[in-house]
Amino acid sequence: MGTLELDGVTKVFPDGDGEVVAVDDVDIEMRDGEFLVVVGPSGCGKSTTLRMVAGLETISSGEIRLDGSVINDMKPQHRDIAMVFQSYALYPHMTVRGNMAFGLEESTDLSDDEIDARVTDAAETMGIPELLDRKPADLSGGQRQRVALGRAIVRDPEVFLMDEPLSNLDAKLRSEMRTELQRLQAELDVTTMYVTHDQTEAMTMGDRIAILDGGELQQVATPLECYHEPANRFVAGFIGDPSMNFFDVERDGGTLVGDVFDYSLSASTLDDIGDVTDLTLGVRPEDISLTGDATGEHTFSTVVEVVEPMGDENTVYLRFEDAPEGETFIATVGGLQQVSVGDEVTIEIPERTIHLFDGKTGEAVH
Ligand code: ATP
Repeated sequence: MGTLELDGVTKVFPDGDGEVVAVDDVDIEMRDGEFLVVVGPSGCGKSTTLRMVAGLETISSGEIRLDGSVINDMKPQHRDIAMVFQSYALYPHMTVRGNMAFGLEESTDLSDDEIDARVTDAAETMGIPELLDRKPADLSGGQRQRVALGRAIVRDPEVFLMDEPLSNLDAKLRSEMRTELQRLQAELDVTTMYVTHDQTEAMTMGDRIAILDGGELQQVATPLECYHEPANRFVAGFIGDPSMNFFDVERDGGTLVGDVFDYSLSASTLDDIGDVTDLTLGVRPEDISLTGDATGEHTFSTVVEVVEPMGDENTVYLRFEDAPEGETFIATVGGLQQVSVGDEVTIEIPERTIHLFDGKTGEAVH
C-alpha cells in the first residue's frame, strides 16, 4: 500500500522580521499507485510541499499520513519514501553501483548479495546495466538521470517524490524520459508525487494534477478536468498553451457587455451565473474558429495583427474591429488556413466553449 494524505499542511518560514507562508493549508489525498503532478509558477510552494513529505522540511501545522500513519516527526530515512532531485545528487567518487547501493546499505539490514541483486534488477529496469562500474562524471545527463531514478527504485519504496527531475535535460531527451517515466510508473505502480513547472509534463504524465498558487491549492483533478472545467481563473490561465483569453464583461439581462463586443447567453448559461453581474469571459484560442458567415450567432468582426506559423497550426493575434490597436487576443487556427496581417476576418466563439468566472473572486461560475 502507498496512500499519501496531506491534511491542512502549512509551512511558514521566518522572513526578516516577518514570515512567509510558503504552503497554506493544503489538503491532498493520493491513492495507492497514483501519479500526482504538483504544478504552479515559481515560488508557489511546490518544492516545499515535496520536501515536507520527504521529511527534509518541518511542518508548521497539519498532518502528513502515509498508509494512515502520521509521519510528521519521522526521520527522512525512516519514511518509506525515495526522492529524486533535479540535480540528481549522485556521489561523484562512487560508481553507479555504489550510488545505487548506498541508500540500502545505510538504511536496511539487507545482505550484500541481496543488495547486489536489487541493484542489478533496478539497473536492468532502467536500461543501464553496462554503466554500473562507471563514475557519474563519465555519464551523459540522461544516463545520470537514469541512475538517479535507479537509486530511487532500488529501495522499493511506498512513495516516489520527484522534484523537476527532467529539467536539466535537453528538449528531446526530456520528452524521451517523460515517456520512460510513465512506463516505469505503470510498471512499478508506486505512488508518485512529481513536481514541475512544465505544464506539458503535468498534462501528459499525471493521473491527476494539483495546481498551487501562492502556497494555496487551486484545484486537484485529472488533466482533462483542469483543462475543461478549471475551478477558477488562475487554473484556466495556467493550463493550456497558448493561454486562455480573458475579457472583462458585465451582465446586462441576457447579454454580456464588454468594452467592444456583446455576447448573448442562453437560459441555461444564465442559470449558472445566478446573480453575479461582474464577470470574466474566458475563451481558449483553440475554440475560436474563422467563419465566412458573419450573420451567425456569436460571430465577430476582427482584424489580424500578427500571424505566427507553427507548421500544423497558426497562432493568430486578433483584435476586435472596434478595439484599439495592440489590444489583441489569440486564436489557434489550422496551418492550411490562409490568414495575413491586416486581414479582416469573422470569427465564431461558440457558446458551448466559453468559460465564465466571477469577476471579483475568480471562481468559475460556468
Ligand atoms: P520554484 O519553481 O521556483 O522552485 P517552488 O514552487 O518550488 O518554486 P518553493 O521553493 O516551495 O517554491 O518556495 C515557496 C516560497 O517559500 C517562496 O516564496 C520561497 O521564497 C519561500 N521559501 C522557500 N524556502 C525558504 C526558506 N528556507 N526560508 C525562507 N523562505 C523560503
